[in-house]
Amino acid sequence: MGINIALDGPSGAGKSTIAKAVAAKMKYVYVDTGAMYRAVACYMVTSGTDFEDTSAIINKLNDISIKLEYMDGAQHVILNGEDVSDKIRTPEISMAASKTSAIPEVRTFLFDLQQTMAKENDIIMDGRDIGTVVLPNADVKIFLTASAEARAQRRFKELQEKGDPSTYEEVLRDIEQRDYNDTHRETAPLKKADDAVEVDTTALDLQQSIDEICRVIADKLSEKKNNASLTVKKERTPRVLMEVHPISKTNKVNPLRVFGYGILRWVTIGIYHIYYDIKWEGVENVPKDGGNIFASNHRSYQDPVFIALHARVPLSYMAKEELFQGNKAFKWLISKLGAFPVSRGKGDTAAIDTSIEKLESGRNLAIFPEGTRSKDGKVGKGKTGVALIAAVAQTKIIPVGITFEGKLKFRKKVTVRYGKPIIPSEIGADNTDSGSLKVLKNRVMEDITSLVH
Ligand code: C5P
Repeated sequence: MGINIALDGPSGAGKSTIAKAVAAKMKYVYVDTGAMYRAVACYMVTSGTDFEDTSAIINKLNDISIKLEYMDGAQHVILNGEDVSDKIRTPEISMAASKTSAIPEVRTFLFDLQQTMAKENDIIMDGRDIGTVVLPNADVKIFLTASAEARAQRRFKELQEKGDPSTYEEVLRDIEQRDYNDTHRETAPLKKADDAVEVDTTALDLQQSIDEICRVIADKLSEKKNNASLTVKKERTPRVLMEVHPISKTNKVNPLRVFGYGILRWVTIGIYHIYYDIKWEGVENVPKDGGNIFASNHRSYQDPVFIALHARVPLSYMAKEELFQGNKAFKWLISKLGAFPVSRGKGDTAAIDTSIEKLESGRNLAIFPEGTRSKDGKVGKGKTGVALIAAVAQTKIIPVGITFEGKLKFRKKVTVRYGKPIIPSEIGADNTDSGSLKVLKNRVMEDITSLVH
């Protein structure tokens, strides 16, 4: 029997991001039970089920097989052999999951899978009824909440980043409707277990929420005089649960896309050689697979392209949110090129979430830890966001230095240097506590600085 941590709360309280961070820190397995309800709903939607016809839904449960596969800390949801991890994150499926999860037979169907996972592993499991029904004897129970407006604001930003056209008002209405559904259903309604600790994240940013949850867990575990503690274990928890097979991050990126992307890259490299006097150094340091962070100094709007041209797997990057507010065609173009918005200086939870999702889906991610562009070419102070993302997604960081004098223009001499990958665990910094994050961030900034000359 492993250590069990139950994390319950309403939609959009930040459960999944926090649970992922805590799981990465404690080397526990993260089990997202909402994803299982979403997979059931996804099957019902794609098979054209009438949601008013409860017996049709119950009958169709016989046709469903759900598995969870784990790789590098990321949970993949497999529905009848298909990886539906991305497909289940739409507003349509959210609402369908909220409806189908009220059916007792649907809950029983998923209950066994959830309990078996908890028996076999040290887990942090998030959902609505984990502390009350699924794991009534959990070692630690937390009820995470935030105001409906704060939750709607976070969800709205996430959906915007994905290009979803929903308005804030629609998202708020959805959240309130789902809250109502979850708290008023007869079977396993959302409610705080009597022995759960309530944490309200309305006024907390992501790092503060993680710290607070870790503090509650540490207190509770030591109260129980359990040997478990927040220190990192030497051995990793087995990543494979049930009869599952690990899938690699790179497999998730369609090989045909990688091939097409390769052609596009080489054509662009040719054009860049004509336009600039450009060279790339340290290309041998670039991993062949995806799911890596490229952390670079920030010199120009061309930087994401400079970095991407020698990475085989497509790259996503954060762009300031102002760029997404103007011209629709421009917004479409930069989104297609892999950009997603971040509001600077506000500890943007949604952008961190999106970054982790991109990495888990196998894409590379470019981050400019300085935040703003440096006009004189000097490398400034970095922010810890890069380290937090790397620690949660458990991924390598490839430092990049981009050097040119003055302004970027025709035939300008440009050098792009890729440094040796930084593996957080190898420098003792794969934790999400402030100390580890600082060590990792400092190392990243030192490496970037040494590549700029
Ligand atoms: O957490 P998430 O928003 O992904 O969950 C999707 C839906 O699944 C929720 O709206 C809720 O109705 C349902 N759910 C549940 N019990 C759980 C987890 C999720 O009823 N343990």
